[in-house]
Amino acid sequence: MKLAGNVGRWIGKVALFFWVLQVSVVEAQGTAVVATSHPLATQAGAWALQQGGDAVDAAAAIQYALNVVEPQSSGLGGGAFMVIYRAATRQVYALDAREIAPAVATADQFARLDYYPASISGLAVGVPGTLAGFEALRQRWGHLSLAQQVSRALRYARDGIVITPYLAHALQSSRAALQPEARALTRDSKGGVRQLGQRWRQPDLAHTFELLGRQGAEVFYRGEIAQAMVATQQRSQAGAAGRGRMTLDDLAHYQVRWRTPVEGDYRGYHIVTMPPPSSGGVALLQVLGELDRFHLGQAPGLLVGEPDQMHLTLEALRLAMADRAYWLGDPEATAVPVKALLAPAYLASQSRRLNRKLRQPTVVKGEMPEGNNTTQFTVVDSEGNVVSCTSTVEAPWGSGLVVPGYGFFLNSELTDFNLQPQQQGKNPGANDVRPGRRPRSSMTPTLIFRGGRWLSAYGSPGGVSIISTVVEMTQDQLDEGLGAAAAIALPRFAVLDAAGHTLVESGLSSSIRAKLLSRGHLLEESPDPLGSVQWVGIDQDNGSLQGAADPRRDGSVVRIPPKGSEKLLSP
Ligand code: GLU
Repeated sequence: MKLAGNVGRWIGKVALFFWVLQVSVVEAQGTAVVATSHPLATQAGAWALQQGGDAVDAAAAIQYALNVVEPQSSGLGGGAFMVIYRAATRQVYALDAREIAPAVATADQFARLDYYPASISGLAVGVPGTLAGFEALRQRWGHLSLAQQVSRALRYARDGIVITPYLAHALQSSRAALQPEARALTRDSKGGVRQLGQRWRQPDLAHTFELLGRQGAEVFYRGEIAQAMVATQQRSQAGAAGRGRMTLDDLAHYQVRWRTPVEGDYRGYHIVTMPPPSSGGVALLQVLGELDRFHLGQAPGLLVGEPDQMHLTLEALRLAMADRAYWLGDPEATAVPVKALLAPAYLASQSRRLNRKLRQPTVVKGEMPEGNNTTQFTVVDSEGNVVSCTSTVEAPWGSGLVVPGYGFFLNSELTDFNLQPQQQGKNPGANDVRPGRRPRSSMTPTLIFRGGRWLSAYGSPGGVSIISTVVEMTQDQLDEGLGAAAAIALPRFAVLDAAGHTLVESGLSSSIRAKLLSRGHLLEESPDPLGSVQWVGIDQDNGSLQGAADPRRDGSVVRIPPKGSEKLLSP
């Protein structure tokens, strides 16, 4: 496989799809690379590395900066998953900083609310995990203080940032301005929508970063910010029934979890990815395992993006969605049978249900897709340590609730639980709301290895569509040897449920659509681009480090020269 190569084949693909995206790519020898969905977040990560920071310091600086420049997608009020590679020990870790349900949550708490009112209610707010997650990383491997890590974000919030296209688009949403504090934050002094190119200052958020720098994470989980968060989620857009249940006690007892990653082999590559409560890692390994016998990418008609290849991938994703809907949830609260779901014999029997030409009849109705937001960033430092992080506040602008005086949005993550309890008969209700439980996720930060050496790291936002995006990125690299830029540029599709409801990007050619529709696939054009992949990896031909960022958002990637060899980037 050549991660960088295969340009001729790629050009063929682009012609096939009539779709050209300019993907930002950098190449660098023996240095560090940062890829995020916003140039200022990328700069914050680069700055942290130049201060002598580790990849985990860069990841933290990126996350805090993203709270300023992409607040609709992730931030202090949300949660995150990370897979981390430590070069010195060659160990991979999975860190779960997912939000959790309050101690008084109940399985039927959403039962009388539809998705939309539920998602803008205080009831949707899970105990935020993002800050605890990055603090856990800092305490374990970090070289910088929290004050240093937040310093770029503080400056961006205080001095203002120039609104980029993706942010400008998100700001138009009514969800950004549902309650007075949110309106005051996201609208200009006359109440108008802030526009592309305008400067946006966020003094309350700057104050929050100042407090964190001075007082540490205590102030967030046990101090004045905790009190403000609890008060905020008690007010609700959905009436008294939607009042949040998070208490000071829930915040004081929030804990991240170090989890054992799920791993699998595919065509000589080793894949290490996020375990439950993510459903994405299990689904990714299931799909690859079920498709292995078809030798995708190796024969005419089965190349990436060709009808049979897409058909088989869609069908395998449907099987994975059925398992996901039934089995996947918080592993501490429900027995998630990860081993059984990934057992070779099980995958072989599932694979026998796949037919190269015929679609399985629609049998199971899945759930609604989640919103298209969240964020992915990926960083490798000059020691070879890697962080791949997917971070979220769930819906765009989370619950729409801004913490007054502190300037950040609270998540709506608890709507990732089953809104209607499913536990009945043999059904374990794996993703029903329970006190202290983490809602099932699709976030799938992933690492690829070959021969024990780290090769690439990536992931994507996009709710349930994350699973398809990560499957496609993995196939593009491992089945066809496409470089990251080529893989990111290809039009995407996303299977949403076991019934096979599938979104496709507008770039997918009409002839391929027609062929898939004629087999009965349930395709619908996605109103928005699918996902936003930030990738770093090694070119196997020349050993250089590469990074690539997705143009579907304001993606940006930068390489950091070895210490002392060039002037520092201006902060
Ligand atoms: N809350 C979703 C999850 O954890 C992510 C939302 C998104 O990617 O838009 O799977």
